[in-house]
Amino acid sequence: MKPVLLDVQHLVTSFTSDSVKTVAVEDVSFQVHEGETVGIVGESGSGKSVTSMSVMRLIEAPSGKIESGTIMFNGRNLLELSEKEMQKVRGHEISMIFQEPTTSLNPTKLCGDQIAESIIIHQGKSKDEAHKMAVEMLRLVGIPLPEQRANEYPHQLSGGMRQRVMIAIALSCSPKLLIADEPTTALDVTIQAQILKLMRDLKEKMGMSIMLITHDLGVVAEMSEKVIVMYLGKIVEEAEVVELFKNPKHPYTMGLMKSIPTLETPKGKLYTIEGFIATADNKPSGCGFHPRCPYAMEICKTKTPEFTYLENGHRYACHLSEVK
Ligand code: SF4
Repeated sequence: MKPVLLDVQHLVTSFTSDSVKTVAVEDVSFQVHEGETVGIVGESGSGKSVTSMSVMRLIEAPSGKIESGTIMFNGRNLLELSEKEMQKVRGHEISMIFQEPTTSLNPTKLCGDQIAESIIIHQGKSKDEAHKMAVEMLRLVGIPLPEQRANEYPHQLSGGMRQRVMIAIALSCSPKLLIADEPTTALDVTIQAQILKLMRDLKEKMGMSIMLITHDLGVVAEMSEKVIVMYLGKIVEEAEVVELFKNPKHPYTMGLMKSIPTLETPKGKLYTIEGFIATADNKPSGCGFHPRCPYAMEICKTKTPEFTYLENGHRYACHLSEVK
């Protein structure tokens, strides 16, 4: 196993509105090793994006606050860095790509200039050098006619091309960790497959680690070595990808897997997990999943389940582990 690059321990992140505090991420601990892709899955409201924003220290004060925990990255606790030091980490050592390139790219700036800007800030290159490197980045992410595309605005490119530009910006400073938050959700399936392949190839070429945030277990299966399943701000299961798909233990993970359509799924009969995820300010007592869980028992309503640890780093938090 390669060395640990990111080590998050007991992370708690909250938001306060009208004097009411809600905990969006609760006691989250996980690691990402060098060169590893870790998929973080869960529905909207599971806390996966807040976790990644916490790692980037992009939780906006005063309403948002990282309450406690440590985020060790490459030997330093990111929570102890000044904002100036953190700015150097962002974009240079950790980069992020978002779901919607249309809103993340600046519509008034040429694509090449947007990539070059990041190279100038983080690598101190001259404008000319940065422009040449930007064209090379466009070539690397598979954009045809990169010299021409560098001089075009985002609206002149297709959705898939815009996402490639986002990836080029994120990778322009060879980060050690790429956080990709739903990077293919806004794209059609063919382009999605191309972007995922591109990310896999670039990961191999550049040797970086990836934290992949998604609601889509299919994407996780294709991309990740390890999977973390989150529900209502907590990790409920974690395992190597093959182990998780072969041997899911938490009923929420099982529900997510049953929702993946297969060739055998009868037309019009897609499985869905009953009910809705609760809001962070109205969490159920005990196990947060109990109102939706087909296996819920009395104990689940009052007692929060602890983790059970199996072999190969597989862990899950469910009272079913105590049933003989
Ligand atoms: Fe279901 Fe209980 Fe397990 Fe929660 S602890 S997932 S309610 S069986």
